[in-house]
Amino acid sequence: MKKIALLGSTGSIGTQTLDIVREQKDLEVVALAAGSNLLLLEKQIREFHPKLAVLWEEKAASDLRNRVQDLPIKVLYGMEGLLEIAVMPESEILVTAIVGMLGIRPTIAAVEAGKTIALANKETLVTAGHIIMPLAKANHVDILPVDSEHSAIFQSLNGEKGNSIHKILLTASGGPFRGKKREQLQEVQVEDALRHPNWSMGKKITIDSATMVNKGLEVMEARWLFDVGLEQIEVVVHPQSVIHSMVEYEDGAVIAQLGTPDMRLPIQYALYYPKRRSLSGKRLDFYQLANLTFEEPDYTTFQGLALAFAAMKQGGNIPTAYNAANEKAVSLFLERQISFLEIPEIIQASMEQCSFEKQPNVDKILETEAEVYSFIESRW
Ligand code: NAD
Ligand code: MG
Repeated sequence: MKKIALLGSTGSIGTQTLDIVREQKDLEVVALAAGSNLLLLEKQIREFHPKLAVLWEEKAASDLRNRVQDLPIKVLYGMEGLLEIAVMPESEILVTAIVGMLGIRPTIAAVEAGKTIALANKETLVTAGHIIMPLAKANHVDILPVDSEHSAIFQSLNGEKGNSIHKILLTASGGPFRGKKREQLQEVQVEDALRHPNWSMGKKITIDSATMVNKGLEVMEARWLFDVGLEQIEVVVHPQSVIHSMVEYEDGAVIAQLGTPDMRLPIQYALYYPKRRSLSGKRLDFYQLANLTFEEPDYTTFQGLALAFAAMKQGGNIPTAYNAANEKAVSLFLERQISFLEIPEIIQASMEQCSFEKQPNVDKILETEAEVYSFIESRW
């Protein structure tokens, strides 16, 4: 039995991770953490019997503790709880499927404790990649990507040890507003932005796909995971989401991974790497695949993507400013406090006002996040 701990078990990636546990019979769930969804977490506890469970708020955790009194389980809350899961001796793999910068500390703690990381939480690498990647190397820990594009790149690197990457071709669906111009996005409503053409995901990442900030975050994530220069990463819009990303080598050969848009594949690949396992679900039917098409991204309409390249180029704590501003702006947009086009405006303003720090430690990263939040609260 392979033992896994799962942060963010009630979310989109979390529930699909548990689908795999249910389907494969040799994974054991030793810990589960969620934000506030007490009822679903209780259901998951009764099905998977973890030894430790965590909810964010103290009150919710104490309610949960009362409800699962009949089981041999410890229930904790808050960051302390997440950190305890990260280092628990019973687990081998930590799946980071929480959303946002909250993932930084647990990921660092797990790396220090020698756990393999199955990483979905891209915000962690975007903001703290310069800390986490060297730490993982020093601790001989694998950071295995769960994000579908990065998993595709990772799979395209198989057997190529010693050959250097010429270029990473990061594919993007283009989201629900592909082909639209800036003026046409003025009146976009929350419902329009939540309608992703190919993937079903959590709310925050679905909005990030509509603004293409998600692709911006993925550019930065790829830069850290695969240790390439920014100029080696090219975003390719591919509306069908069949090619999940590609690697071009020095001789011009391009290796890609293709599949149906199903996150269970990259999740399962990370859980069993380097082994492949059978997986239920739809397969690609090449007789049915009419066209695979490709376009250049529209950096003028999707300013959030252009800003990601700028943030990465500046480095230091600017990617943190980019990410924190986006998190705040997305939640304001979901609350209908700001318009769709204000999301990149807020990101840009936050990057410009951020006081630069070349090598931010975790405290400085979190300080930058807090500064960006209060800047936005004071202006919007
Ligand atoms: P989601 O919103 O569906 O789920 C988030 C999970 O985090 C939930 O279980 C929630 O309870 C938990 N959570 C939130 N706040 C918490 C807190 N304070 N303490 C503990 N747990 C907390 O999000 P998602 O779509 O599953 O995305 C998770 C991460 O994976 C994100 O970083 C996202 O960018 C990345 N990702 C998601 C997909 C996808 O298909 N959904 C694909 C690639 C990458
Ligand atoms: Mg992705």
